[in-house]
Amino acid sequence: MAEERIYEEFGQYIVPSSWKDKVWDIKEYQRFHENTIKDKKAIENWWEKWANKLFWFKKWDRVLDDSNPPFYKWFVGAETNLSYLCLDWQIEQGRKNKLALIWEGEPYDETVKKPKELKKFTYYDLYQQTNRIAYALREKLGVKKDEILTFYMPMIPELLLYMLAVQRLGASHSIVYSGFSALALAERAIAAGSRIIVTADALYRRGKVKPLKEIVDEAVNICEKRGHNIEHVIVVNRTDRPGIPWKEIKDIWHHEFIKDIPENARIEPERLKSDSISYILYTSGTTGKPKGVQHSIGGYAVGLCATMKLIFDINEEDIYWCVADIGWVTGHSYIVYGPLMTGTTTIMYEGAPDYPWPDRWWDIIERYAVTVFYTTPTAIRMLMKFPLDLIKKHDLSTLRIIHSVGEPINPKVFHWYFKNLGREDVVATSTWWMTETGQILTGHFPGLGKIFPLKPGTNGFPLPGVKMEVLDVDGNPCNPGERGYLVISTPWPSMLTTLYQDPERYIDVYWSKFTKNKQWRFYTGDYAVKDQDGYLWVLGRADDVLKVAGHRVGTAEIESAMLMHPTVVESACIGKPHKLKGEVPCIFTVLKQGVSPSPELETELKLHLRKTIGPIVASDAIILFVETVPKTRSGKIMRRLLKAVITGQKLGDITTLEDPTAVKEAERAYQYLK
Ligand code: ATP
Ligand code: MG
Repeated sequence: MAEERIYEEFGQYIVPSSWKDKVWDIKEYQRFHENTIKDKKAIENWWEKWANKLFWFKKWDRVLDDSNPPFYKWFVGAETNLSYLCLDWQIEQGRKNKLALIWEGEPYDETVKKPKELKKFTYYDLYQQTNRIAYALREKLGVKKDEILTFYMPMIPELLLYMLAVQRLGASHSIVYSGFSALALAERAIAAGSRIIVTADALYRRGKVKPLKEIVDEAVNICEKRGHNIEHVIVVNRTDRPGIPWKEIKDIWHHEFIKDIPENARIEPERLKSDSISYILYTSGTTGKPKGVQHSIGGYAVGLCATMKLIFDINEEDIYWCVADIGWVTGHSYIVYGPLMTGTTTIMYEGAPDYPWPDRWWDIIERYAVTVFYTTPTAIRMLMKFPLDLIKKHDLSTLRIIHSVGEPINPKVFHWYFKNLGREDVVATSTWWMTETGQILTGHFPGLGKIFPLKPGTNGFPLPGVKMEVLDVDGNPCNPGERGYLVISTPWPSMLTTLYQDPERYIDVYWSKFTKNKQWRFYTGDYAVKDQDGYLWVLGRADDVLKVAGHRVGTAEIESAMLMHPTVVESACIGKPHKLKGEVPCIFTVLKQGVSPSPELETELKLHLRKTIGPIVASDAIILFVETVPKTRSGKIMRRLLKAVITGQKLGDITTLEDPTAVKEAERAYQYLK
C-alpha cells in the first residue's frame, strides 16, 4: 500500500504517555462502534444520549424521521434555541461569572510586548450584550423569525454577539468571509434574500487597515442593479478610520444602534423547532460554484455537543482555542456554538499568525495557558518555515489536545507539529469533516476516556453512531488498503438539511452518486482509504485523483512524498494528460527559502519520488518550480485552477482565490516547460 511506503519514516505508533486511562484496543472500539450503527434504533439511542445532555424547551417525539430521505429530520417535535443554549443555560448551570470569551486584537505593543487590545467576557457579559443587540434588531429594524441577515465582518466580538442575537430572535445568518469581493458578497446577499448587512468600517491584517465599508457599499449597489434592496447596513467602528462614506438612514453605526438600549433589556429567546434554519453558509468554493449549505438547530446542537466532548474532551477548566476564521464553518461550529454550549472558555484572535512575529500564536498559547488547540495544515506549513527557537522560547506545556482540519496533513507536517508543539505527549488527529456535515465526523476520541495509537497524518476512525465507507466506482465496499470514494452511509444529527432553496441540487450533488436499492448514501466528493487496522486516510478530492497507467493515486500521497524531501516546503499535484499512461503527475513545487531551482534538483526530486511512490507513478512525473500555489482564502490548495492552466481551460469561479498572482506563477512555470 502506498501509505506504508510514504509513512514508514514514522512507522512507530505513538501513544501519549500521560494518558490517564488504559489504551483502548482498536478491535474493542470497532465492536463498540459497530453496536452504535447496527440499526436505526442503535443510531437513535446513541444520539439521544447526547441530546439528553442539552437543554430543550420541549423534548422530541421522535429522534430521527427518515420517512422522506434524503430530507432527514432529527429530534422531531423538539424545541430549543442556540442563543439560549450558549448563554441562559450556561448561567443557569452556575457559569454566570465564568470567562466565556477571550478576544485579542491584532495590534501589538512592541515596547511592553503585549497586545494593545484585549477583551474578556463572562457568560453574563455575553448574555447582556447579546440581549441588547437582539432588542435593537427587533425594536428598531423589525428583525423577526425566519429572516436571514448577511454578515461581512472581521474577527471581532461583535460578530459572535450578532450571531447569538440573531439566533435569539429565531432569525438566521449567512456569514460571508471578509476577504471576499463585493460581487461575491452581493451574490450571496441576494441569494439569501437579506435586507440587512452587518459589517465593520475596516479590519486589521498584518498591521494594515483594510477597508470593508466601501466593499459593502459596492455590494449594495450591485444588489440594487439586480433589483434587490439592502435596507440597512450596520457598521461596527473597528479602526476609527476617517472619511468613511456614509448614507444617512441606510447606514447605522453599531454603537449608536445600541446606545439607548438599557443594560437590562431582555429578549425572550424564540422556541424554535429542531429543524428550523440556524444559518446558511456558502462553501468555500475550492471545487466550483458555491452552494448554500443550510443547517438546523436541534440536530446541529447535538452533533456539536457530542464532538466537543468526544474529540476535544472539553472539561470545566479547559482553555480552548480554534484558530479558524468565523467566516468558515469551523469557526461557526468550533469557535462559537460548540464551545459556548459546552460552557468552555473560547479564544478569538483577530489577526495573522505571523504578526508582528511568527511566534504570535505560540505567545497566545502561553499567555492564556491554552489546553486544547485546533488549527489547519496550511497554517502549520507556513509556521514550520521559521526557526525552531521561536517555538522553543514559549511554554506550551499546557496543551493536551492539538487537532487539525481542512486538508490532509502530510506526515512530515504532522510530525513537526506533534513533536514541537505537542512534546509527543498530546492527542492529535486530522479531524475530517466538511461544511455540509456541520460537525467533525472522524478522529480519535479522548473524550471516551481512552485512546488507541495515533498514526501520523491519519483521519482516525468514524465517530460512534456514524457509518462511513470507502466504495469503488460501482458502489461496492473496497478492501482494506484499496482506495475509493468516501461516503457517509447513515444520517447524522448535524447534517445539512438541504441546499438553501435548492432541494434538487441537494439531491443531485450529494445523494445521487452512490444511492442504490433504497440505501441512501451521502457522497463526500473525497477519495480515501481504510487501512488494515481500520484507520481512515483521506487522500484528496475525488476530482483530483490521478490515474497513472491504470493506477489510481491520491494527490495527498504524491504531495506527502514530495514534502519528505528536505528542500520542499509545499507542493500541489495534478494529473496531466499523457498519450500512453492516461495521466502523469504534474507537481507545482515550492522550495525552501534559499534553495534555488536547478535541473539537478529536478532530477533529484524525481529520483526521490521514484523511491517513495514507486516507478510507475513517478517515471514521467513533471516537476515545476513556483514561488507559491493558488489557495482559497481558508488556505486550501485550489488544484482545479492548476488543472485549468495546463489544459488551457477557463479558470471558472475564482471569487475565493486568495492571491491571483499564484495563477500567474503557475502559467509562467508551465510556459517555461512548453
Ligand atoms: P467546496 O465544497 O465549495 O469546494 P470546500 O470543500 O473546500 O469547498 P469545506 O467544506 O470547508 O469547503 O471543506 C471540506 C473539504 O475539506 C473536505 O471535503 C475535504 O476534501 C477537506 N478536508 C477537511 N478536513 C480534512 C482532513 N482532516 N483531512 C483531509 N481532508 C480534509
Ligand atoms: Mg466541499
